[in-house]
Amino acid sequence: MRTVLIIPLALLLNACAYRDVDADLVVHNAIIHAVDEANTTYQAMAIKDGIILELGPEQQILNRYSAKETYDAAGQHVYPGFSDGHCHFLGYGLNKQKVDLSGTKSWAEVLERTKAFGEAHPEKTWVMGRGWDQNDWEVKELPDRKELDRLFPDRPVLLQRIDGHAAVANAVALHHAGITDATRVSGGQIVGRFTTANSDASWMDPGSLNEVRHSGYPMWEPTGLLIDNAFNVFQTIFEEADEATKRKALLDAQRDCFAVGLTMVCDAGLDTGSLALIQRMQDEGVLKMRVYAMVADGAENLAHFAKSGPVLTDRLNVRSVKVYADGALGSRGALLKAPYSDQPGHHGLQLATREHFLEVAQWCKANGFQMNTHCIGDSANKLLLDVYGEVLGGTNDLRWRIEHAQVVTPADRPMFARFNIIPSVQPTHATSDGPWAEARLGAERIGHAYAYEDLRKTLGLLALGTDFPVEGIDPLQTYRSAVLRESADGWPSGGYHMENALSHADALRGMTIWNAIAAFWEDRLGTLEVGKFGDLTVVNVDLEKASPGMLRKAKVVAAFVGGERVK
Ligand SMILES: [Zn+2]
Repeated sequence: MRTVLIIPLALLLNACAYRDVDADLVVHNAIIHAVDEANTTYQAMAIKDGIILELGPEQQILNRYSAKETYDAAGQHVYPGFSDGHCHFLGYGLNKQKVDLSGTKSWAEVLERTKAFGEAHPEKTWVMGRGWDQNDWEVKELPDRKELDRLFPDRPVLLQRIDGHAAVANAVALHHAGITDATRVSGGQIVGRFTTANSDASWMDPGSLNEVRHSGYPMWEPTGLLIDNAFNVFQTIFEEADEATKRKALLDAQRDCFAVGLTMVCDAGLDTGSLALIQRMQDEGVLKMRVYAMVADGAENLAHFAKSGPVLTDRLNVRSVKVYADGALGSRGALLKAPYSDQPGHHGLQLATREHFLEVAQWCKANGFQMNTHCIGDSANKLLLDVYGEVLGGTNDLRWRIEHAQVVTPADRPMFARFNIIPSVQPTHATSDGPWAEARLGAERIGHAYAYEDLRKTLGLLALGTDFPVEGIDPLQTYRSAVLRESADGWPSGGYHMENALSHADALRGMTIWNAIAAFWEDRLGTLEVGKFGDLTVVNVDLEKASPGMLRKAKVVAAFVGGERVK
């Protein structure tokens, strides 16, 4: 008798009007992981005008909403849209317009690919390439321009290393950039060599583009290899990439990112022109990706934002400045306290003065901007933690970030918590650099590197990203590198320094809510809750419960931005 009474009552309360509420999308037959405080799971949800209306049991949602579209998740797992906490979204897209040199096994192979690309693209004035890594070659020597000069006697060529912190240019490119044998730069290195008439007589003199005329005495000339600030002169050439190229780059990047389930990216360093283009393309409706954009450190950019203030739309959030403290470990540009273990006396490069970092920090504080500084070496991390501390003074909600935080001396770590500084790290760096990082750092310092769990403990959160195109774009590989500490090829077996693996729950938070917090966007994204954006990534396994074997096979099967299907 009791049940007979209760059922009509429930119908009255719950379903008095069947499907009388409009929605754009209903997702059902799902295991929806809200990634909220209580770790709630639901079976179904409704989205309208890009916003989550309701989450709940299957029948409750299906009975209440009449939806334009329905997505049956077939029992698979729905997560808040995955984000990349530090990447180069536009840069990745622009790279797709260049010759891809990643995975090359020798300098000869680099030359071959570059030659073929040059022939296939006669319309391009510049032949640009990116992705070589001498650590992958049999002869692990840094390259020079000699062969490039022979292959490209009158077309400028610039080939960047995988980390973007070194490049090799041919004589024509050096000439365009105004680099001669007399050029010196601070915070960078124009690698040169002494040569004599007999040894390298056929090289071109970049100053005059004439064949070098030797008169028997040794003379210095640039080898074409440029480290860090030395190829900043080429930045203008990259930035002058015409609008059509940039548009294609952004759309290519968006397509690839949606395909792996990314719905928000933090672009680490854009100029005002590129930011304006992103906003235009979002307004036109062609660029649907949500972008947290860091403004590239530079007088012009800062002057612009001092006037305009931060930008916040549904898809674009600009309120931070990206600064570089040092270079990268691979090209020995990372600034270390003690010399490199594999290059005596060499400490790496500091890319600007302490006064400059202080000046930007004060600008950020005064303008309500977040300061995000690239720090790889232990010395760079210490320097910037000190500068941040000096300007911030104590606890605060400015959420300044250290990007990479790659080698941090344990004694310096408490500063993250003391000044509310967020470590923004890339789990795939640990497993990509692992094979050679110890040679650079030595047995003791390697224990302070890629120490993500130690860093997580300081403030209780981490931003997780990839730094793509330095690494691949796949957020599931970030997850695997964070929890299994192994690369896409399964290196090393058993995981890399497992004491610094993240827990499954934290890896998931890092790719969702913690990235949102680090981007001041947690009120709109990062968890699945009523009132937030309907940004979803659907995966075929339960990430937190999957065995390592299942994790390796995990796939993103669908993605939605604001309730619109993008994969
Ligand atoms: Zn970066």
